[in-house]
Amino acid sequence: MSDKIEFIDLKAQYRALKPSIDARIAQVLEHGRYIMGPEIGELEERLAAYVGVRHCIGVASGTEALLIALMALGIGPGDEVITTPFTFAATAEVIVLVGATPVFVDIDLADCNIDANLIEAAITPRTKAIMPVSLYGQCADMDAINAIAARHGDIPVIEDAAQSFGATYKGRRSCGVSTIGCTSFFPSKPLGCYGDGGAIFTDDDGLAQAMREIRVHGQSKRYQHDRVGVGGRLDTIQAAILLAKLDTFDEEVAARIAIGDRYLELLREVPGVTPIRVVPDRTSVWGQFTVLSHNRDAAVALLGEQGVPTAVHYPIPLDRQPAYKDACRVSGKLEHSLKASQQVMSLPMHPYLTEDAQRDIIDVLGKAGISARAA
Ligand SMILES: *Cc1c(COP(=O)(O)O)cnc(C)c1O
Repeated sequence: MSDKIEFIDLKAQYRALKPSIDARIAQVLEHGRYIMGPEIGELEERLAAYVGVRHCIGVASGTEALLIALMALGIGPGDEVITTPFTFAATAEVIVLVGATPVFVDIDLADCNIDANLIEAAITPRTKAIMPVSLYGQCADMDAINAIAARHGDIPVIEDAAQSFGATYKGRRSCGVSTIGCTSFFPSKPLGCYGDGGAIFTDDDGLAQAMREIRVHGQSKRYQHDRVGVGGRLDTIQAAILLAKLDTFDEEVAARIAIGDRYLELLREVPGVTPIRVVPDRTSVWGQFTVLSHNRDAAVALLGEQGVPTAVHYPIPLDRQPAYKDACRVSGKLEHSLKASQQVMSLPMHPYLTEDAQRDIIDVLGKAGISARAA
């Protein structure tokens, strides 16, 4: 293989955007308003316009975004929040942190998002929110989920959009398709900064105000603490970096979609490997490019030997994790989630991945012999 293949190439992106990123950072260093500086408001305005909602609140991370959303909704002990066990731990973690119970509903194996058909059976009088995850960069079935929530007394829906910023659902943007949308700017996410960061989106003025206050220790004004909050501010330097990166984000999203399409095309020649399905009317930003294979562990090992890095998102469903198995309630069988944890692997994915590299990766995958036991 020619060049070393990176799983995610953050340095290539920095090299491409270096002048504007450096200039933006220098401005912050010069003006000296390091906490809640002017870049925060500027970024929030641009992101709200991008998503198409009234309010964006910049926060310290994707995890903090989810936590603040739950706190603003007043969710706590005795309450239940319906979500998926096949996600990064942060989704369930914040539910447990506010004292509520995560209720796990199985996924659809085709796209690995929560199966909307199974949600209604999990609703009880204690259900205070539904938290679908837009996994791998593709929205869950938000209209179906919103309709169920509306039928049951307008249960708030929080989209965990940490992996899907920039994706569309029936023409609308991820983060703007439910009561609250939460995203992450962790460096490897579709819109990443150079440290930790996140944002919350909503059209609800009251919730937006509550979340702004919770972000700064529950202050309605300086040293007036009307509610319990957190130290959840977005860093000004990270906001500056994101402002520079937003200038080319549309191009990066287009590149991600083109690279995803090319993977799908190349994978048609590889039996035994099933890519995540992109549902009609949705676009995926391929936060991860993930495939399912019955011979996952062998394929991961072989690809690794040939210099192709892979990752498993995620090897253990949350209902089986020590931290959550006693803290959760399980609704129905979670067999698809378990199957996914045994079969998924993510291939290198970033907007600067070349066609040659993709061909090399699929070549190695084709030779890995996983077709012997077709999926
Ligand atoms: C990354 C991620 C988070 C957490 O975001 P951080 O910014 O790392 O706190 C939450 N949920 C999902 C699905 C994620 O992928």
